[in-house]
Amino acid sequence: MNIYHITYAPTTKTVCLYFWGCNFDCRGCIRKKDLATKTLLLDLKEVIDNLRNLEIEKVVFMGGEPTIDPQLQELAELIHCELHAYNILLTNGFFLPSLDDIDEVCLSLKAHSNTLHKDFTGKSNKKVLENFVNLYRSGVRLRSESILIPNYIGCDEIENIARFIASVDPSIPYRIDAYTPVPETPWRAPMKEEVESAVNIARKYLRNVSCLKGDESLKYEVVRIV
Ligand code: SF4
Repeated sequence: MNIYHITYAPTTKTVCLYFWGCNFDCRGCIRKKDLATKTLLLDLKEVIDNLRNLEIEKVVFMGGEPTIDPQLQELAELIHCELHAYNILLTNGFFLPSLDDIDEVCLSLKAHSNTLHKDFTGKSNKKVLENFVNLYRSGVRLRSESILIPNYIGCDEIENIARFIASVDPSIPYRIDAYTPVPETPWRAPMKEEVESAVNIARKYLRNVSCLKGDESLKYEVVRIV
């Protein structure tokens, strides 16, 4: 499999599975360094064996990009059958395999403008927007998130994304994350007031908007399993 790192939070009984590799090449990717260096990957049995002795309620499949792993569905099914956990997929939404054993999807909408999306990720967002609608229609629990990057993916773009989500369903939860500056990119982190202003704009269209302003501290212990 593409999994190279596993963490566990005993308080929330949550496991995070980190997948290596991505089908986007985002300019502001915080994981660029991890993703560039191919690391030791676990096979399916090793992943399950590492989880077996933990008390688990939720498993989060996260990036890199989990959907490009051909064994994602098999792993999600095993986690359901053997560990009885709730499976959450974090994805860029570009490619969606069978998600029969995924209980919840958080689709990251990088930009609504295709020009901006191509500039940031290297790929068109046509499929992403289509997949967002298809996921909603499939009945899976769906939420979304975006990164606020001042003077690039700013409040105007967040407004367009919020309007798009609302056109699907205004009750879909949406989170706005403050950009964390990545070396060799020209952008700064937003100020708290800028994040709040983006939240207020998104709330004109959506009922459930939250944010990460970038100064949050970890609320519980997280241990490294692999
Ligand atoms: S989709 Fe996520 S993991 Fe992939 S390149 Fe973009 S920011 Fe990085």
